[in-house]
Amino acid sequence: MDISQVDISQSGLTEAERVRILAKTARFNPPPAQLADGRRDLVGMSRAELAGELAAIGEKPFRTKQVWHWIYHQGVTDFSRMSSIARPLQEKLAEHFVIGRPEAAVVQTSSDETRKFLFRFRDGQEAETVYIPDAQEDRGAVCISSQVGCTLSCRFCHTGTQALVRNLGAAEIVGQFMAARDNYGEWPSPRGETPRLLSTIVLMGMGEPLYNYENVAKAMTIVMDNEGIALSRRRITLSTSGVVPMMDRAGAELGVNLAVSLHAVRDELRDELVPLNRKYPLAELIAACRRYPAASNARRITFEYVMLKGLNDSPEDARELVRLIAGIPAKVNLIPFNPWPGSAYETSSGNAIDRFAKIVMDAGFSSPVRSPRGRDILAACGQLRTDSRRERPAA
Ligand code: SF4
Repeated sequence: MDISQVDISQSGLTEAERVRILAKTARFNPPPAQLADGRRDLVGMSRAELAGELAAIGEKPFRTKQVWHWIYHQGVTDFSRMSSIARPLQEKLAEHFVIGRPEAAVVQTSSDETRKFLFRFRDGQEAETVYIPDAQEDRGAVCISSQVGCTLSCRFCHTGTQALVRNLGAAEIVGQFMAARDNYGEWPSPRGETPRLLSTIVLMGMGEPLYNYENVAKAMTIVMDNEGIALSRRRITLSTSGVVPMMDRAGAELGVNLAVSLHAVRDELRDELVPLNRKYPLAELIAACRRYPAASNARRITFEYVMLKGLNDSPEDARELVRLIAGIPAKVNLIPFNPWPGSAYETSSGNAIDRFAKIVMDAGFSSPVRSPRGRDILAACGQLRTDSRRERPAA
């Protein structure tokens, strides 16, 4: 999909907004998913694109399903392992294509088993991905990045100190999940309810996914395809800091779970903590949550709320939060602030967090306090950052 094809009436975008987002996105486009020798990466292509590529080298349509299965169900990266395909065709495929993965430049495992990957892409840019195993069961979430850096500068977030370098392409987004599964040896894809180690995806890593919607949507469509990785939409959560016009579209087209980085219940404070609030203030954000199509009692919207000492953690804040989200099928994740080098905030006290959680819970909303994971390797929520920089255009 191309953002220029956005249906304005469906997305709720005005023409001016569409043009602005389009122009902004184009400046940060990922490089083509292609090697210097001209071979194209099959990972990240839609089924239709894959079919087109195979047709262009003279192959019949049924090959699409076969190749798709080998890439996304079996997880092979080498055409010679596609045993249902005859050797001459394997060789032909290898002449034209590759099955790519980002390079795991650094892999760190925390004392609590959280694992952080620094992935390096073909152009040398880097982003981080985190696997957070469930403490009780053999499953866990992969926290995926959608951009290198971020434009949004949320004050409590380490990524926000890194200027946006570029958007990640669909191949790079789905590639993070596939490379993490390589690392855990989790191929072929488990079927149905078979236990999976890497069982859910949370788009909560570096970047604002709704500012890179086309690539994120394409990657998630690949991940959800039943003949490949086959993750159900219920196992995918997209987190946004509140790009209101794109929330409707993501709900209608992807139907994945929604998480909203709320962090403050008054515009004045949210303007400071999440500067995007100046463009889409709380009333608009909450209205977009109320109409989010994939929300129900079984699939609640998650409000993420970082607990900052003396700033947003009072009982009044908790009561205002309850008032704001009344009637929305929702849960509130309370996140004790995870410090990073140079951060200006302090974590709320345990008492303040408990008091806050109780008010929210007594109002009928689940309000778990998220235990920090991977803090020792800077892998916890809000701590991701890489050294990638955007090169200045030549004068
Ligand atoms: S919280 Fe998300 S949107 Fe805000 S700066 Fe960090 S990565 Fe960007």
